[in-house]
Amino acid sequence: MEYWDKKIETMNLRELKKLQLRSLKKTVRYVYEGNRFYKERLKKAGVGPDNIKSLKDVEKIPFLTKDDLRKYYPFGLVCVPMNEIVELHASSGTTGKPVVGPYTKNDLEIWSEVMARCLYANGLRKNDVMQNAYGYGLFTGAHGFEKGAQKIGALVVPTSSGNTKRQIQLMLDFGTTALACTPSYSLYVAEEAVKMNLNPKKDFKLRLGLFGAEAWSDEMRKKIEETWNIKAFEHYGLTELIGPGVSLDCGKGKGLHVNADHFLMEVIDPKTGETLEEDEKGELVFTTLTKEAFPVFRFRTKDLASYTEEKCECGRTLPRHSRIMGRSDDMMKVKGVIVFPSQIEEALMKVKGVSENYQIVKYKKGVVRELGVKVEPTVSMYKKGNLKNLKKQVEDEIYSVLNLRIGAKIVKPGNLPRSEGKAKRVVDLTG
Ligand SMILES: [Zn+2]
Repeated sequence: MEYWDKKIETMNLRELKKLQLRSLKKTVRYVYEGNRFYKERLKKAGVGPDNIKSLKDVEKIPFLTKDDLRKYYPFGLVCVPMNEIVELHASSGTTGKPVVGPYTKNDLEIWSEVMARCLYANGLRKNDVMQNAYGYGLFTGAHGFEKGAQKIGALVVPTSSGNTKRQIQLMLDFGTTALACTPSYSLYVAEEAVKMNLNPKKDFKLRLGLFGAEAWSDEMRKKIEETWNIKAFEHYGLTELIGPGVSLDCGKGKGLHVNADHFLMEVIDPKTGETLEEDEKGELVFTTLTKEAFPVFRFRTKDLASYTEEKCECGRTLPRHSRIMGRSDDMMKVKGVIVFPSQIEEALMKVKGVSENYQIVKYKKGVVRELGVKVEPTVSMYKKGNLKNLKKQVEDEIYSVLNLRIGAKIVKPGNLPRSEGKAKRVVDLTG
């Protein structure tokens, strides 16, 4: 077994918790003395730097939400003089003001380090050629991957997103061994490669897929691995915390290890805010333990998962969260049943002859909210015909996963929109 930082990654859990507590105390003192908003908030909650005696005491600190971040946009929560900031990132801000992520030199160093840890765990090495097809710009994704890969010493090809034919040509020309992008885009690249008379399994040197920024099911992962004949890894992170690099996929298929020396994880009940125990499903909440420019306390991610401290087969002791089951924002209630898009994806990918291109449609029939799904069959299945039977299989499979009848519509291959970044899986027509 190989680790990027063996000492931290395999540290005795009790020692790790001691380290976390020391960092938590230090961070609370740091923000108390360095930021007006945080000081007021902590005072109001009756928490001072001297009140943090155990990790459990973090629960005394109020949650931080996206609305808080927007309220203090852009620099209200910054804890260092502005001239200490050397890089800025921001979320897309499609649902309001963007969230700004400022970094000091030291923050960037930590970002490179945690990303190197993640990529090394995925098997990325000095000899690899990593094609970075995340969009370069304000978004954190591409930059995090670049910093981590370069720290390892791999060759980074910064193609950014889009221009798929050129991506494919460069993959061939440069002998790309690792592709970093959204999982759905990797399948679009494969689809285009086939159109160029290439065989994704044989004509490329690709061996690693480094995927993030999208919730994707285990079935989708299998599909990608088969399509390219690669090993696919998940990446997780948020602009509010650091960008990608919060937790690492060791490849054992049992969740992601949190880089716990930098991020303290909790799982809470999204309704009551109560802290949950190991293996209970809830919302992930994180506190940064080492950030300088923009530390966050108990940030509510809206990502739903559970956690465990059980030692992993890979030998790492870092606590794990399960794969993200969905975002609380994506939760749909249909006829009293709670549905996540990832559950529908899981069902679809089980049906032979169904491609990875699908779309979930929310609509209203009178006043009743309904859900439908549009599915593209594979080209060979489409040519074979008998699509009625495919429709039935899709509906039955969804029923067996959700216990809910959802109407499926089989559409011609190539009919649904493709994305070069995050795939838009849900279309809302309910107004
Ligand atoms: Zn592991």
